[in-house]
Amino acid sequence: MSVAENFRAIRAKLNDKIILVAVTKNHGVELMREAIDAGAKNIGENRVQEAAEKFQNLNREVTRHLIGHLQTNKVKQAVKLFDLIESVDSQHLAAALDKAAAQFGKVQDVLIQVNLAREVQKSGVLPEDLDALINFVDDAKNLRLRGLMMIAPNFSEVEQCRPLFRQMRKLFDELKTSRKDFDFLSMGMTHDYEIAVEEGANVVRLGTAIFGERSLTNGNYRQV
Ligand SMILES: *Cc1c(COP(=O)(O)O)cnc(C)c1O
Repeated sequence: MSVAENFRAIRAKLNDKIILVAVTKNHGVELMREAIDAGAKNIGENRVQEAAEKFQNLNREVTRHLIGHLQTNKVKQAVKLFDLIESVDSQHLAAALDKAAAQFGKVQDVLIQVNLAREVQKSGVLPEDLDALINFVDDAKNLRLRGLMMIAPNFSEVEQCRPLFRQMRKLFDELKTSRKDFDFLSMGMTHDYEIAVEEGANVVRLGTAIFGERSLTNGNYRQV
């Protein structure tokens, strides 16, 4: 199946209210265009530098999501390039983003990434530090908190993700009752998005399901 066919087949399966982010990391700009031509309205990249190159000639109406870990030395570029930064996970980063957004006269939409499964190799704020980070982002004049993001562990049995997704949904719903503009619960990737959607995700981030496996020969972009 082609990228367009993959995209349309997945889009057709998902409720209209669910945002499908086509994750183009490691793939060339041609495939990004194919997805956009097939109707993709949201594009996800996980590295600022790679996105800067690929977005250069992309004068299309798409919403750009940063889904990868962001270093503070890249915040200016990130604020310039992305509509939604999904990976805010520390006060240090939030402070740097707020400052950069102020310089651009922009209110930057962000999600807070939660490391619910406490995986040491993954970024994301630990659950016990979430409230403090939310308060910090609330006080940052140039940031607008739009919701939460989570990456589930790569369990051998995918059903093991379900309790984590459910817990995130609960957290999200609780926070949402007292907040405005708190709209997005981003969870679910190729291997687990169906479960994520069942548990209330309204943003899913799909790479492999749309573009096929990422490998060293995909485009010019190497995974390290
Ligand atoms: C790469 C990536 C995805 C997409 O992963 P697939 O398994 O290819 O769908 C989603 N979210 C994040 C944060 C990623 O880095």
